[in-house]
Amino acid sequence: AIGGETPRRDRLIEYLHRLQDAHGALFADHLAALAEAMKLARAEVFEVATFYHHFDVVGEGQTPPPPLTVRVCDSLTCAMHGGAALAQALEGRFGAGVRVQRVPCVGRCDCAPVAVVGQNPVVKADADTVAAVVASGERTEPLPEIVDFDAYRAAGGYRLFETVCEGACSGESIITALEAAGLRGLGGAGFPSARKWRSVMAQPAPRNMAVNIDEGEPGTFKDRHYLGSDPHRFIEGMLIAARVVGVAAIWIYIRDEYPALRHMLNTELDKVRAAWPDLPPIEVRRGAGAYVCGEESGMIESIEGKRGMPRLRPPYVAEVGVLGRPTLVHNPETLWWVRGIVEYSQQGKDWLDGRGRNGRKGLRSFSVSGRVALPGVVVTDAGITLRQLIDEHCGGMLPGHDLYGYFPGGASGGILPASLADVPLDFDTLAPYGCFIGSAAIVVFSQHDKARLLAENAMHFFAHESCGQCTPCRVGTDKAARLMAAPEWDAGLLGELGQAMMDASICGLGQAAPNPMRSVLRFFPHEVGAPVTTEKEGAQ
Ligand code: SF4
Repeated sequence: AIGGETPRRDRLIEYLHRLQDAHGALFADHLAALAEAMKLARAEVFEVATFYHHFDVVGEGQTPPPPLTVRVCDSLTCAMHGGAALAQALEGRFGAGVRVQRVPCVGRCDCAPVAVVGQNPVVKADADTVAAVVASGERTEPLPEIVDFDAYRAAGGYRLFETVCEGACSGESIITALEAAGLRGLGGAGFPSARKWRSVMAQPAPRNMAVNIDEGEPGTFKDRHYLGSDPHRFIEGMLIAARVVGVAAIWIYIRDEYPALRHMLNTELDKVRAAWPDLPPIEVRRGAGAYVCGEESGMIESIEGKRGMPRLRPPYVAEVGVLGRPTLVHNPETLWWVRGIVEYSQQGKDWLDGRGRNGRKGLRSFSVSGRVALPGVVVTDAGITLRQLIDEHCGGMLPGHDLYGYFPGGASGGILPASLADVPLDFDTLAPYGCFIGSAAIVVFSQHDKARLLAENAMHFFAHESCGQCTPCRVGTDKAARLMAAPEWDAGLLGELGQAMMDASICGLGQAAPNPMRSVLRFFPHEVGAPVTTEKEGAQ
């Protein structure tokens, strides 16, 4: 038994977390003992442990890591706000008991730069504030201030779920409401939610469900915002989806960078289980620092206790997902909207009535960061332009900064120049410019930044996060990052390399990795000595 439970293969990553939490690292003899307890080959345990960035595997004769790790974010927004200088200042500051690591996005881009001391994030950090937290001994993140179970119930929460359970509200009416509202997956892919529910329902039982809170796209922090304020609205949406689709078990996969949210979710879920004891089993799973687990099939592999390597498709996860069963995979924000949409529809009202502009319909949540005065999550009309977003919701640009360009969809969605700040931001509207909105992470930069450096930053991120199973991505991201370091870019070679990555990578990471680089060649050629093409911006 492990910690009183019969070992389960799919819980391997949970056991690795327990070991590391207890001993400060994963020691080879502990891993061997775990393999024996789980009746697994040692290689199987080692390959999983070494796949995830947050696990420190210590082989025989190797030195264990110091007791404290300070992680300094070096992804896009933090890089623009001095993340590298902060890391440098901290690297020489502490003794042997502290190590400083440069890490990818920690999901707090609205408060850049960010350093995480143990599990305690220090926002708008400088070397002194980080050192003060190190000295304070405070290693955990405070719990978010939320609408808790009682408050949510008191305000009518879970009534809709109960009416669904009682049969007073049919699954078909819920799906019809979602269809009418045009709800789409908000994790990045934008697949119509109602169609996804129907396709999983068409599969044989038992069906499973997995919620993807592995919000790792640099620039994205909206899921943290929703869960950290009104988590029961998400949980109710999840339970309604599970009930309508006929789900036998639910997994909630949350990134390791959100420990307070994880603890809060576990606490609140206990209250929900106590109120409705017949719910399907719900397991909260802790990620371990791998961006690729935000890809749905990579997440499913991780839930099964394996390396988070995306799967070849078909079969799609709606057919063969968690533990081989048809699986409904959702981003938490998508589920967060379910209750509001259905309640409006029951009142005969259109949830999206009057929302949307520039020819688009609906609402979108934008995670806005970078050189704006008021970064944060903005919920506003789909189809709003960047210029409108900055002027109406973000307090304009920071003093002394003029708009030069922006990432419309995090690191993977490409880059647009200021001259394209009047393009409606929504699903499908950015394709003519070789960009996409993804999870709507808008990173705004100014004349004090260089598009090429930001694109390089993104390519290093993808090289670091590539799972390595396909050559175009594993080799291509690394090679592209090296080519992009040259003062003048070899546009022909980078173009070919990018095309090979897009055509031949298994998953979205490798397919999207060339986007920022291609955007620089197209919209910022003057920065990299590349030929200025005669194509008009926007013409494909
Ligand atoms: Fe892994 Fe990259 Fe291939 Fe995706 S594209 S499966 S991340 S190697």
